[in-house]
Amino acid sequence: MKTTPKRVLVIDDDPFVGKMTLAHLKSGGHEGRLTDDAEEFMRLCGTWHPDFAIVDLVMEGVDGLEVLRRIADCGCGIGVIIASGQEGRVLDAAHRFADASGITFVGVLSKPYRRSQLLDLLAQRPSTTEIPVVPDPSLPWGELEFEESFRDGLTSGAVTVVFQPKVDCSDGRVVGYEALARWVHPERGDITPTVFVPLAEKRGLVSLLTDRVMREALDWFGRHPHREGRRLSVNVSSAEFSDPEIDERLLKACQEAAVPTSQVIIELTETSAMDDPVLSLQLLTRLRLQGFEISLDDFGTGYSSMLQLARLPFSEIKVDQSFVSNAATSDESVIVIRSIVDLGHALGLKCTAEGVEDAKVLSLLEKFGCDFAQGFHIGHPMVPDDLDEWLKTAKV
Ligand code: C2E
Ligand code: MG
Ligand code: MG
Repeated sequence: MKTTPKRVLVIDDDPFVGKMTLAHLKSGGHEGRLTDDAEEFMRLCGTWHPDFAIVDLVMEGVDGLEVLRRIADCGCGIGVIIASGQEGRVLDAAHRFADASGITFVGVLSKPYRRSQLLDLLAQRPSTTEIPVVPDPSLPWGELEFEESFRDGLTSGAVTVVFQPKVDCSDGRVVGYEALARWVHPERGDITPTVFVPLAEKRGLVSLLTDRVMREALDWFGRHPHREGRRLSVNVSSAEFSDPEIDERLLKACQEAAVPTSQVIIELTETSAMDDPVLSLQLLTRLRLQGFEISLDDFGTGYSSMLQLARLPFSEIKVDQSFVSNAATSDESVIVIRSIVDLGHALGLKCTAEGVEDAKVLSLLEKFGCDFAQGFHIGHPMVPDDLDEWLKTAKV
């Protein structure tokens, strides 16, 4: 197969490695330029317009990470390959840094690398890395304005629910759906829950969100023709723990939709609200006694602690997507996932991995005995009509 010639700019302070790379590029039909100077490198980025940059991380007098940051700042969209003789963990961290900076990251070359490894990377179409949406506490709207719009959104139908399928890792069967809130603001457009849920918590509006999502999700699930043997997962903020009637509200919502509580999983993201050991123990035990399943969401990040996991009556643990989404390229993430799955099983819990973005990760999960999986590779969060279409081709 003939590859399209690419322009590749290399920054490396080792003349031997640099010349070798240029020779590999030439033999693969590509055009290469070499420099060991950060200023010259940036100048060439702007004037020579390379398709790819190969950046050595450790150079005499030049900070490779700083070069990556400058590539991100210039927004030139070059596909970036990191080359280094560092061990895997350091390369992994540099990869994460590149991802978080929003550059178009193509891959890592671990020195010494072979010609074929280099040419394989150049054959890839650089994919623009998704820039994570970070909740912005200084969101340029006043809290009062937020409150007013959010209340409007809840009553006008601008806040809705989408459903993401969850499958059995061993055979791909659909075992349930997670309900996720969406808000399309009339002027501001799509607002992600990672932004509006914390603001709703802060303004004391989160119970309105829970009630809205529960009602809409249960109404859909209650009428769903294939709900037998499947469960509906709903996210409930632990800020709700301050409401002594939260369990009654959840129970009532299920009764109104005629959905048995045993088919509902309450997903809790662990926060400091769970720090009150007596209150959280009482509440979660009551929910279990009412028949709900309880899942500990985003395990491995934030406030989650082994103590909470062992002490509270969870029935499921969800491995955070930050480990799962990069498991195909990170040995460390694979080890963390495997340990969480083993820990969950040892405690008698079901394990779900979220953020499965490719087939390789799904087969790893199956190998580790992880019970369930969710992620873009399986199915995105969808509106009910799209989900119905998706289900026509899914394993039931
Ligand atoms: P979560 O409960 O952990 O939900 C999983 C998030 O990962 C969702 O983001 C989902 O769209 C996203 N996701 C699913 N598959 C993939 C994948 O393969 N790759 C990647 N990169 N992401 C994937 P979303 O919908 O933006 O929700 C973010 C968080 O907001 C949720 O995290 C949950 O904590 C919270 N949230 C969402 N809906 C509600 C709600 O109704 N009530 C409350 N209290 N919180 C909610
Ligand atoms: Mg969740
Ligand atoms: Mg999660």
